[in-house]
Amino acid sequence: MEQTNSSGVDCRESIARLYEFLDNELCSTDQAAIKRHIEHCSPCLEAFEFEAELKAMIRSRLRKEGVPLEVKEKIRRALAAE
Ligand SMILES: [Zn+2]
Repeated sequence: MEQTNSSGVDCRESIARLYEFLDNELCSTDQAAIKRHIEHCSPCLEAFEFEAELKAMIRSRLRKEGVPLEVKEKIRRALAAE
């Protein structure tokens, strides 16, 4: 089910930009467009919430244990591949 309509962002794009969104790397226009999309799309909202929690968990663990960057990158890739 594609949900493009007024926001201009579909599921594929919002998922593709999930990490950028969570990292606040998008411009405010894109950020707002994706936010609008996930507010009206429960599968995407669930995915975003799941990743946000996971990210917060990983981040606090990395901070505590000082895991090297390459490991972080591996985790990130493994998550993105799912
Ligand atoms: Zn969606």
